[in-house]
Amino acid sequence: MGIPVYVGKKFEASHEGAYEVEFACRNCGYECDVAVRAKGHGSGHSPFFGDDGGALDEAVAKAQWASARNARATARLLACPRCGQRSKAAILGFVFFSLLKLALVSAPCVLFGAYFLSGRYYRGFGWLMVAVGAICAISIYFTSIHPRYFRAGQRSRFIRAEPR
Ligand SMILES: [Zn+2]
Repeated sequence: MGIPVYVGKKFEASHEGAYEVEFACRNCGYECDVAVRAKGHGSGHSPFFGDDGGALDEAVAKAQWASARNARATARLLACPRCGQRSKAAILGFVFFSLLKLALVSAPCVLFGAYFLSGRYYRGFGWLMVAVGAICAISIYFTSIHPRYFRAGQRSRFIRAEPR
């Protein structure tokens, strides 16, 4: 199901789907399938007036690809139904990319703000930039980090979860 929205010459689409993903526990070796609900967003640009359809297709295809990728990423973060462990490698990867995302978005604002705070003038502007950096960090946490990590289980259902 795609919901295309026309925004000027840029097309945006979102896609939500249910995916069946293989789950394999690195701790106890348990394997099963898991049904995961995931969302993805995509955009397409039409550089010429004639290619709006192509750009729309591109946006929808990207959104579908992103939601399938999110489903796989969600499955990797799930706790094993048999031993209850989450994959340490998946958690490390998730923490790494979460910190990277926070650093790329928030650090420039905070550093920029700190530069003005260290000077004599424009201190108000410095605080403003620090606040913008903090708000970015909080919004990334609540839109992307928290739902992925803590709500992974709510969006997922193990299939054949009983021990084989
Ligand atoms: Zn396990």
